[in-house]
Amino acid sequence: MKLIDGKMISGMIKDEVKEQVEKLKQQGKEVTLAVILVGNDPASSVYVGNKKKACEYTGIRSESYELPEDTTQEKLLALVEELNGRDDVNGILVQLPLPAHIDEKTVIDTISPDKDVDCFHPQSVGRMCIGEKGFLPCTPAGIIELLKRSDVEITGKHCVIIGRSNIVGKPMAMLMLRENATVTICHSKTKDLKEVCKSADILIVAIGKPKMIDSSYVKEGAVVIDVGIHRLEGKKLCGDVDFEDVKEVAGAITPVPGGVGPMTIAMLMKNCVSGVR
Ligand code: NAD
Repeated sequence: MKLIDGKMISGMIKDEVKEQVEKLKQQGKEVTLAVILVGNDPASSVYVGNKKKACEYTGIRSESYELPEDTTQEKLLALVEELNGRDDVNGILVQLPLPAHIDEKTVIDTISPDKDVDCFHPQSVGRMCIGEKGFLPCTPAGIIELLKRSDVEITGKHCVIIGRSNIVGKPMAMLMLRENATVTICHSKTKDLKEVCKSADILIVAIGKPKMIDSSYVKEGAVVIDVGIHRLEGKKLCGDVDFEDVKEVAGAITPVPGGVGPMTIAMLMKNCVSGVR
């Protein structure tokens, strides 16, 4: 069994970004990411903190907007519009979830597709689906990098994705299709989930249920990518895959932590640089 090391690969990507940022600086161009956080959700604060750290590491300038919980939608939209109009801002990220009185879709739709480093805007999603140049969604694009840099052949392979969310499952399917995999998407209404999973050469799991996938779902030698993140009692992290059990049959597997998680932020940094013109 090969361990797919997301910590190491994300480090390589951040180092590549750092080099590109340096080169752009020499051409007089600075890369800037604007990060907006509304309210004080503890998990969101941790994510935003990690994004800022990655910016510091890569040399990307981060501009941080920490707004109170009772910020009105109008005020938030006005800030997004202002950042859209600023030539010195390359990427805009609004940390989700937003407080209940703000409509997330309206906010996402207001971010300029040219600065939509999370790739959530419908235009960004459309571009990705038809293979036009544009930002790629961070978690799924990070998984493609993990596979490629671990020498996993994708072309012609049967890839089963469990989960159909807009952030992970659906865009993952589109990116695997672009890489010439044969793709099956499973979800909560799928019949014979185990049988479908057992036919996968590459199994990508994004269900949001701790350790749901054990070795009985996995074909001998399959590559298993675990997107799930859960904090167990005692603060230990685990994924949607029962790692200890599945590692006995998988040909390659990502751990949690240290698999997909660090890739998401590394790809965000990559998007920020690719947004510079
Ligand atoms: P989600 O809740 O939006 O979607 C879960 C999907 O799983 C749904 O499409 C649902 O149909 C499917 N599902 C639920 N129960 C099922 C079952 N019993 N059988 C088959 N399918 C089932 O979740 P999400 O946003 O896609 O996230 C999934 C997991 O990935 C979560 O644990 C989340 O924390 C994690 N995540 C990690 C990263 C990262 O950077 N590593 C990024 C995003 C999400």
